[in-house]
Amino acid sequence: RIAAAMAARSKDDLRSPICCILGHVDTGKTKLLDKIRQTNVQEGEAGGITQQIGATYFPLETIKAKTAVLNKDGSKVYKLPGLLIIDTPGHESFTNLRSRGSSLCNIAILVVDIMHGLEPQTLESLKLLRDRKTPFIVALNKVDRLFGWKAIPDNSFVDSLSQQSVSVQREFETRKDAVITAFQENGLNATLYYDNKNMGKYVSLVPTSAHTGEGIPDMIMLLVELTQNRMSESLMYISELECTVLEVKVIEGLGTTIDVVLSNGVLREGDRIVVCGLNGAIATTVRALLTPQPLKELRVKSAYVHHKEIKAAMGIKIAAPDLEKAIAGSRLLVVGPDDDEDQLKDEVMSDLKTLLTSIDKSGQGVCVQASTLGSLEALLEFLRVSKIPVSGINIGPVHKKDIMRASTMLEKSKELACLLCFDVKVDKEAEQMAEEMGIKIFKADIIYHLFDQFTAYHKQLTEERRKDQAPSAVFPCILKMVPGAIFNKKDPIIIGVDVVEGVMKQGTPLCVINVDPETKAKEIVYLGKITSMEQNHKQVEVVKKGGSGGGVAIKIECAVYENAKTFGRHFNEQSEFYSMISRESINILKESFRNDLSKEEWALVVKLKAKLDIV
Ligand code: GDP
Repeated sequence: RIAAAMAARSKDDLRSPICCILGHVDTGKTKLLDKIRQTNVQEGEAGGITQQIGATYFPLETIKAKTAVLNKDGSKVYKLPGLLIIDTPGHESFTNLRSRGSSLCNIAILVVDIMHGLEPQTLESLKLLRDRKTPFIVALNKVDRLFGWKAIPDNSFVDSLSQQSVSVQREFETRKDAVITAFQENGLNATLYYDNKNMGKYVSLVPTSAHTGEGIPDMIMLLVELTQNRMSESLMYISELECTVLEVKVIEGLGTTIDVVLSNGVLREGDRIVVCGLNGAIATTVRALLTPQPLKELRVKSAYVHHKEIKAAMGIKIAAPDLEKAIAGSRLLVVGPDDDEDQLKDEVMSDLKTLLTSIDKSGQGVCVQASTLGSLEALLEFLRVSKIPVSGINIGPVHKKDIMRASTMLEKSKELACLLCFDVKVDKEAEQMAEEMGIKIFKADIIYHLFDQFTAYHKQLTEERRKDQAPSAVFPCILKMVPGAIFNKKDPIIIGVDVVEGVMKQGTPLCVINVDPETKAKEIVYLGKITSMEQNHKQVEVVKKGGSGGGVAIKIECAVYENAKTFGRHFNEQSEFYSMISRESINILKESFRNDLSKEEWALVVKLKAKLDIV
């Protein structure tokens, strides 16, 4: 009986799920939010919607009213107390709603423009949702743009679709199928929500129009059903506090404040709180817990309502001293009577410290900078997967000291002397300094655009370097003369050869090793460089081992100031000819041509190194 009572109690005590909206720019995220928030005056809908800081709260009554068209027979079951939707759509708030690496966003709406299908930020959002294992639905927005669509404002989508002409229905099918195929190509099974028999396997598509309101009841109902049926576990109210800083903002009259989402637990005025700061943990005391003044109360002087106590889930502004260096995306902890403040400080800082472990041990890598802890985390994860090493991280706008940090890479590895900036401002002085020092700054609001820019730059630098170094790169080969194939004994030497090992290239310097018959002393004799190669009466530039069938005629020339060598005196038909490699040429091969050599050819480099006594 006790167990039953416990179960009943926790079930009664489900908290409101937190919902984020993500998607490509211009898909209608903001418009959808506006539409969901709109109160339907004609139907005398219970107002109920409370504006919070950075979020909107929909109590159960409002949810019921907004989904009434789908519940004409009253058969729908609602178990949630309400729904909290985060107001800032996009990556930003989603990546910041985090705690110990997991997401506090319980469910997300990924918005796709039905006329455009999947776009770059759709894919990026998809990746974030998967990384954080956040359940989501897809709003296929702008259905009213299907040619010939007849709008029935705020109707259920299924009913609206059934009343469209055959050609509209057909266009809908085609476009919907294209989106499903595109999702499939990205490894995601999707299907229309009303066809979805397996929510665990298929993500639900819900067609909407933020203009006409069609499909919005369907979307809200789907959010409710998905959260209450599939995640009541994670929505059980717990007394432990779960709170995240979404934004750090300076407000006139209040100083620096933090906007937080309290997703679990209770916050009180006067609470001692701890958050992660750029220069270490910040411990301070809550001076005020604020939410916006309801619209109709505009006569009231203050823009905010003060609260003595607030229970989750809620978007709140906190005013407190010493918040200037607070980091968006940080967890917020409350120091309880039995807590050790220092321990909590260590705990909030551990999130930042975890990110520091992404820094490459070799000390070589690009520097990265992002606006918040959450977005930095997402960026670092992306760079890790993309195998781009990182040597320094920071949060917030880019200043001169950040350029200084990146500049340490100029000597070690020029192509890593870069700053990858995600969603942050770069101050003028810093930009100028970077330009002067030759530090490349990449800025983007889409993570993988940073990656693309960096990779393109890296490739360009590599190409340039290869071009510069090509004349000094010596590829390894061993040649033997084709018997009798001596065409010119000296100045220039012209002989026919076979490539016994490795790869012979035009430009390769050649040598032979002679041993004095009496003293047994080894002498390395430089013959000159291969200046031209001819095979079957055609000029060739490269001949690999086994590719010289019948022999290749090569011309070997040395500079005028060098002693020209002669057939019969310095070498003969029995001689083996070697690429004359050096320490320096090996380094160049390693640096810029590593992948141009096969394993076998690298082994030959080692062999030649020994032969030519290179240490
Ligand atoms: P966001 O960048 O994703 O927040 O997109 P917005 O909400 O700002 O919308 C971008 C543009 O698309 C605006 O001009 C909207 O009016 C328009 N839009 C958004 N939703 C719809 C819709 O359902 N139907 C139509 N026809 N236009 C829409």
